Amino acid sequence: MRLILIGPPGAGKGTQAKALVDRFGIPQISTGDMLREHKAKGTALGVKAAEFMNRGALVPDEVVIGMVEERLQSDAAKAGFLFDGFPRTVAQAQALDATLARLGLKLDAVVLIEVSDELLVERISGRRTDKATGQIYHIKYNPPPPGADLVQRADDKEEVVKERLVAYHAQTAPLVPYYAARGILRRVDGVGELAEVTARLLAAVSPGTVGSVAGPPHGVPPAK
Ligand code: AMP
Repeated sequence: MRLILIGPPGAGKGTQAKALVDRFGIPQISTGDMLREHKAKGTALGVKAAEFMNRGALVPDEVVIGMVEERLQSDAAKAGFLFDGFPRTVAQAQALDATLARLGLKLDAVVLIEVSDELLVERISGRRTDKATGQIYHIKYNPPPPGADLVQRADDKEEVVKERLVAYHAQTAPLVPYYAARGILRRVDGVGELAEVTARLLAAVSPGTVGSVAGPPHGVPPAK
């Protein structure tokens, strides 16, 4: 299974990605997590990426593409993967197409998690990560267990979130028609209980919906 999850910041990509990788036993490739690791370790790549991440801007394509290409060379990734937060620009999508073609691999589906901008800011500002486990919680919608040691991402502050939304609409949203034109886009309504959204995602990528069986040319309508 080779999948891509796209959606605005706060749509639940990271949380839902974990549910999908558990289900399919494929590695999750989160460029956001990889960049945060570089930042935390203080590598040259991390220092460069931090300049952009701290103000809610996208990290330059060549930095992200190089990092992903290296990761795709691993045998584990050849067997299947779930990209979460990549590609985020048409240039990244084109680079990914070229790399996959070179490796003789094909994408099964691109799932778009849809949530309105109004809801996103509230969702992101309540988001917290458990330092020990990496588990993502929301203080209101998915409360952490008592005593959990939680952190808020620096770029989850409201002013930065607004910039991230601007970047999403300007640079990432064009991926929707890009993948819809290839007949591999699946739209999923990201509003609702966590488990409900997971069920919609699983239905959207279940056998018969993806892969060699042709889906409708512009994806399925959002689940209600
Ligand atoms: P995320 O955890 O996916 O929300 O990513 C956090 C931040 O990392 C983004 O706001 C960007 O600054 C950067 N980032 C993550 N993935 C990408 C990507 N594919 N292209 C450019 N920047 C990225």
